[in-house]
Amino acid sequence: ESVMPEKIDYVFKVVVIGDSAVGKTQILSRFTKNEFCFDSKSTIGVEFQTRTVTIKSKLIKAQIWDTAGQERYRAVTSAYYRGALGAMVVYDVTKRQSFDHVARWVEELRAHADNSIVIMLIGNKADLVELRAVPTEDALEFAEDQGLFFAETSALNGDNVDKAFFQLLEEIYGVIC
Ligand code: GDP
Repeated sequence: ESVMPEKIDYVFKVVVIGDSAVGKTQILSRFTKNEFCFDSKSTIGVEFQTRTVTIKSKLIKAQIWDTAGQERYRAVTSAYYRGALGAMVVYDVTKRQSFDHVARWVEELRAHADNSIVIMLIGNKADLVELRAVPTEDALEFAEDQGLFFAETSALNGDNVDKAFFQLLEEIYGVIC
C-alpha cells in the first residue's frame, strides 16, 4: 500500500479453514486484493497471499493461507497449520451443515496448531439475507463457549472482511508482542 520500501516488523501466518464452498478463497481475495472473483478456484495451487498492514505503528505482513481445496479430501496437512498464529474458521450462514462442522475444524486446530493460536469464527455470505439458515445468536453462543472471536462477513460486498482480519491481527499482536 506504500510506494516506499517496506521494513516489515512481523510476519503473521493466518490459516483459513472450513468446509468447501463457504467462501474461504473469496474472503482471502477480498482482504488481500479487494477483489471478488466470479470465476472461482483460479487460485488452486496458490499457498498463501499477503497484505501488509499497520498495527500499533508496526508494519505487519499478514500471510494468509488458503487450503486450495485440500479440505474436500479431509487432507489438510499439519504443515498447513505449522507456525500459524491465527485461524479463521469459516462457515456459510446459508448452510447449516457448514456450521455444524465448525466444531470439527476447531478440534483439528487444537490438535495440529499451536496452543496460543488466536481463532476467529466467521459466518460468511451474510449478504444472502433471505437464505440465512444459521442465526447469529447460535454462532455467538458457540464462539463464547469455545473462546473464539466471531464476525459475520460478506466477501461479495466486502462487509466486515477487513474489520475481522484487523481484529484477528490485533489479537495476535497482543499475544505475540
Ligand atoms: P471455498 O471453497 O471455501 O474457498 O469457497 P469459494 O471462495 O470458492 O466460494 C464458493 C462459492 O461461494 C463461490 O461461488 C463464491 O462466488 C460464493 N461466495 C463466496 N463468498 C460469498 C459471499 O460472501 N456472498 C455470496 N453471495 N457468495 C459468496
